[in-house]
Amino acid sequence: MINLKNADPDFKWEIIKKEGGEGLLKCFGCSDCAASCPVRYFDDRYNPRKIIRLTLLGMKKQVLSSAFLWLCAHCHACTERCPQGIIVAEVINAIKNYAVEQGYCPEGYKVQLDLLRKMGRLYEVEDFDLKKRQKLGLPPIDKTIPEVKKILEYTNIIKYVNSKPQVPNTKQDDSSIQMKMEKK
Ligand code: SF4
Ligand code: SF4
Repeated sequence: MINLKNADPDFKWEIIKKEGGEGLLKCFGCSDCAASCPVRYFDDRYNPRKIIRLTLLGMKKQVLSSAFLWLCAHCHACTERCPQGIIVAEVINAIKNYAVEQGYCPEGYKVQLDLLRKMGRLYEVEDFDLKKRQKLGLPPIDKTIPEVKKILEYTNIIKYVNSKPQVPNTKQDDSSIQMKMEKK
């Protein structure tokens, strides 16, 4: 439910300031992005137009804490169709980046960040893999990549591994991107 009493008028300006968020104000709500989004084919609760609309209305907490924000596959089908020339996928990305900065980082991403910090990889390289490579005539690879940890430290993203509040998963989150207006 949208209750405009909870709106934060600065939210949209925060997103516009971010790289990729520049086109936000040009949206006139035609819904072409939603009509062309392949993710909606699998889960019609995901809707880029609603995310953009809620952002313009200032529904900061509702947008940032939504599990659906993270379903965007960044395929740019919406960008191709937007009559306003908005790079819609980048606007969604800007909102995601802002969400992480505000502590709304989904658990799955935190786990991946932690793996990258520890190994420099998302998947562990085991002796079995190395033997298989050898059999195929491929050169060995390092089990860990320390440079990745350095990059994570440099970008400071690692601090979000323990960030709160929690973002629900899509099974738990069945109401956060709703466009119904409350009467009062
Ligand atoms: S297609 Fe473009 S103008 Fe239309 S709702 Fe989506 S972002 Fe807004
Ligand atoms: S970039 Fe995201 S919002 Fe746009 S069509 Fe692809 S999945 Fe949907």
